[in-house]
Amino acid sequence: MSRLIRAVVDTGALRHNLKIIRSRAGGARVLAVVKANAYGHGLVQTALALEQADAFAVARLEEGLMLREHGVTRPIVLLEGVFSAGQLREAARHELDLVVHDPLQVRLLEADAAAHRFVLWLKIDTGMNRLGFRESEFPEALERLERLRSPPLEIRLMTHLARADDSPEMTREQLERFGRAARGRAHATSIANSAGVLGQTPVGGEWVRPGLALYGASPFADRTAEDLGLRLAMTLEASVIAVRRVPRGETVGYGGAWRAGRDSRIAIAAAGYGDGLPRGLPSGTPVLVDGRRAPLCGRVSMDMIAVDVTDLGEVEVGAPVVLWGAGLAVEEVARRAGTIAYELLCGVSQRVPVERR
Ligand SMILES: *Cc1c(COP(=O)(O)O)cnc(C)c1O
Repeated sequence: MSRLIRAVVDTGALRHNLKIIRSRAGGARVLAVVKANAYGHGLVQTALALEQADAFAVARLEEGLMLREHGVTRPIVLLEGVFSAGQLREAARHELDLVVHDPLQVRLLEADAAAHRFVLWLKIDTGMNRLGFRESEFPEALERLERLRSPPLEIRLMTHLARADDSPEMTREQLERFGRAARGRAHATSIANSAGVLGQTPVGGEWVRPGLALYGASPFADRTAEDLGLRLAMTLEASVIAVRRVPRGETVGYGGAWRAGRDSRIAIAAAGYGDGLPRGLPSGTPVLVDGRRAPLCGRVSMDMIAVDVTDLGEVEVGAPVVLWGAGLAVEEVARRAGTIAYELLCGVSQRVPVERR
């Protein structure tokens, strides 16, 4: 029991998932999305493991700089772009590619006295209503980028799908808008997130931008990672630190939220909301103790959970408790918590050491 909790990342699974995505992407290049600490898998190590990706995407400048600092030489795209002249200079110095989604960013490029040259990804808002130029504003933005004193190395066009996981109608609508905007232009394009790559509606584009699928989780409610041929890369594994008998009628944990309906055996495991487990995980949520399913009982506390192991036979201090991983889909745990796999993976906290195999 050298570590009470750890996230074990299977590098082979990451690479396998990248291959699956490639095989579904129709020859498109893969921009591997490693924002948010690579969805909890460790930013730098994940990028190094995914050396077969064509490029990487992060949300923020600091993430891009971190990758460069650790020797990542592939193209890196800042999905939210830059917001000041200082950031623009930093991005240029480290050869980071920029998404341009707002007039402010066009002005920053126009005002750039040093005339840095970038690969620019002009973002078109086709219905997400989050970032990007609307169809009507887009031609002017493109024209201004094409007229920059420091001509861009390349301009590519992108959009983001709001419902690639559940609404072919909305996806088709977004594709139509994007197609109208891009029609007759020679620029490379990028549309698909994980659901866009793996969904039923072909979305096209020279670049795809998978995140979640790389990590082996399914973006769809009605198709599992297994259905998609993906392998969950992260196993979140804690240890049992105590086993106790709880007589029928007594309660376990804060708020007395779970009451033993029979004489019970309860294992206490070293995983809590301080490690990133949602406090809202209800009693009954499955975990794997020694590889066998058993239900959580009572509230998740900061450093511990309680598991009803009455039906498991012998369980000893030190036994492994898998919160998600092989044999227990992160999507299932997320559903129990009323959230999505993305949030659970990104939420694994700093104090949880990440090990690789
Ligand atoms: C996060 C993000 C992605 C990746 O989305 P997944 O659903 O994880 O595949 C792709 N594109 C943009 C713009 C993003 O912000």
